[in-house]
Amino acid sequence: MIYLHIPFCKQKCSYCNFHFSTSLNFKEEMVAALKKEVFLRKDEPQDKNLKSLYFGGGTPSILKVDELKSIIDEVLKYFSFNEDIEITLEANPDDLDQPFLKELAQTEINRLSIGTQSFFNEDLMLMNRAHNAGEAESSIKRAQDFGFENISIDLIYGSPTSNFEIWKENLNKTIALQVPHVSSYALTVEPKTALNQWIKQHKIPAPKEAEQNREFYYMSEFLKDHGFDHYEISNFGKPGFHSKHNSAYWKSHEYLGIGPSAHSYNGSNERSWNIANNKLYIDSLVQNKVPKETEILSEADQFNEMIMIGLRTVWGVDLKVLNERFSEQVLAHLHKEIQFKLEEGILIIENSHLKIPEKHWFMADGIASDLFMVN
Ligand code: SF4
Repeated sequence: MIYLHIPFCKQKCSYCNFHFSTSLNFKEEMVAALKKEVFLRKDEPQDKNLKSLYFGGGTPSILKVDELKSIIDEVLKYFSFNEDIEITLEANPDDLDQPFLKELAQTEINRLSIGTQSFFNEDLMLMNRAHNAGEAESSIKRAQDFGFENISIDLIYGSPTSNFEIWKENLNKTIALQVPHVSSYALTVEPKTALNQWIKQHKIPAPKEAEQNREFYYMSEFLKDHGFDHYEISNFGKPGFHSKHNSAYWKSHEYLGIGPSAHSYNGSNERSWNIANNKLYIDSLVQNKVPKETEILSEADQFNEMIMIGLRTVWGVDLKVLNERFSEQVLAHLHKEIQFKLEEGILIIENSHLKIPEKHWFMADGIASDLFMVN
């Protein structure tokens, strides 16, 4: 699968620390550089038959449709598309107007991941989103009118501007809009963000973990009652609408990441990441060089990554795969570390898979890190 990072946004959301630029000065050069990187790295993936192509960001919907199409065509020169390929575009509601959607519906893009975040203006203003509550709703309806069925929306819970009743209303609207996939995250306060600054200056209160916990478990039960599978901590999909891209990532399949700051993984022991600077990225590609760093993962790194990712999913970690892949020393470490947690019921083993029961998912990252091996 291929991930393409489009590093531009209209404005900076108050909670975001991703890599992007709000200046579109080098947009054309960036599109050319992305295509050049696809060409230069075309031989890296073992699997030339793509099951997923994912435009993430940043804000990929900031590109014109013919720019997106030209990138897809470049990929198609070197890879074939599986007949069930999922081609996702992350899109912000304010970009999904009629002309854009009309053109987009003519391309191979068959899935939209819409950055809705909330259907309430108070939340959207605090988050400094570029859209309002009306656009949050109308963009989904318009996309459906243009034939996009496979739609995911992002929702953020636990904002200081929200409360339990507002959160319930966000979920009710999601059901009313018949969206088949939801990715939902707690509002987190990252360093060097406006949100962090406002909290430090006591302009707004910090998000409350107990409230986020309550909203998370309510969402889980509510969406399951409405036919969704809770298949990863932050992801819910109706049958047939689970994200192929994310599922492959969680199952440790290889992926090629194109664009500034994008990460790649060869499916076993090698990970690389591109420079997180638009200008340096473009300059390097002009000289036919991919500006990336590569790391060979130690056995402990590979083990920790499998534990970290696997325990966040409904499938858990396949113990047979662990047994085949890791040394006696790693397996002895795992065996020792899980004993107490198995007795406590914080971990369970089902059909040779190590899992966290869903009622403990909110603590999954902490549980996983307890099992980590030190290099
Ligand atoms: S649109 Fe997405 S990537 Fe861009 S600033 Fe907002 S949250 Fe960050």
